[in-house]
Amino acid sequence: MPMTQESDPPVLTAVCGVGRKYPACFLVQLAGRRFLLDLGAGAGTAPARPDLSRLDGPVDAVLLSHQHTDHLGGLDLLDRLGRPPVFATEPIAAVVAERFGVSCHPLSLAGQMDLLGVLVTTGRAGHAPGGVWIHLSDGERTVLYMGDHVSHSALYPWDTPPEAERVIVDASYGVESVPQGTRVQALMNVLARQPVLLPVPVAGRGLEIALEMMARGLPLPALGPDLRAMAHRLAAGEEALGAGVIRPEAASTLARLAREAPEVDQPDRVTLVAGATLETSLSLKLAARWTGCGAPVIFTGHIPSHTAALALVEAERAAWMRWNVHPTLPENVALIRAVKAKTALPAFCDPEHWSLFQAALREIRVGE
Ligand SMILES: [Zn+2]
Repeated sequence: MPMTQESDPPVLTAVCGVGRKYPACFLVQLAGRRFLLDLGAGAGTAPARPDLSRLDGPVDAVLLSHQHTDHLGGLDLLDRLGRPPVFATEPIAAVVAERFGVSCHPLSLAGQMDLLGVLVTTGRAGHAPGGVWIHLSDGERTVLYMGDHVSHSALYPWDTPPEAERVIVDASYGVESVPQGTRVQALMNVLARQPVLLPVPVAGRGLEIALEMMARGLPLPALGPDLRAMAHRLAAGEEALGAGVIRPEAASTLARLAREAPEVDQPDRVTLVAGATLETSLSLKLAARWTGCGAPVIFTGHIPSHTAALALVEAERAAWMRWNVHPTLPENVALIRAVKAKTALPAFCDPEHWSLFQAALREIRVGE
């Protein structure tokens, strides 16, 4: 079993992703190898990028947690890293091939493999199709990177991660503690009353919101074409995206949604459209149509600066109601305790919040 030496490089370096909701990029060094976990980019017209000069050396492999831009949008920087191999699950590999022309090596949705002498364990993270947490071990030291995660999705499965000495958790919500049940009830109360436009990511919470409406017997929402295509692909399951990407019990409802949901049109019913920050032409067009006649537009996720979504909210022409796709503080504390971590790094939040993590975690060290 390898012994830790004084001169060993740090096991974990946050290249980017600590301090506000910056794009994800973490360097893990184990068994003399250097692994990059995610290579994200910011959103909007002035996207933030990881500072790769902080890497201070070559990288043996890049492992991706999920397909959101803040986790893989920086893959156009791959040349600057000497084009190391990229590992991703099947649904994410498809996105990477289309968007960056990079072909990925396989990463299991839930399984183990030896990668250059390091044991890599993955499990589904409940946040997006094909999204995983990643656990690395050299037999002595262990690092668990949660990517973006949430355990209560009705659509995306969740696998309980193994124990780890160090864990990087998704603290996108900082120290917020409002449970998902409260969030869901508040949004459903609004959707039951009026024809709201909900701009959402194509691979994320949008279809979960539609499934919740169906479970409550509300009228079927209208779906934009990108979301309908995603619903078809997810419902088709194994053939389209590989096994285990969605919870099996959601498949038939999702298939019905894909088949029967009306086309997007006028502001006369709840409408889900791809374009969480109004970055798509259809979401922009519909937002103009809705606001033009005083119908409500509601954003349900993180709204980055330099986006059309933020401009609309700041002009008080759209509202914001959160739908939890990241863990709350109590959920993160429970996870950190469950994996018996000695050190926890709350990623994607202001370090000012770390003192509240520390207060809740007491003997567990909070930081890199
Ligand atoms: Zn995400």
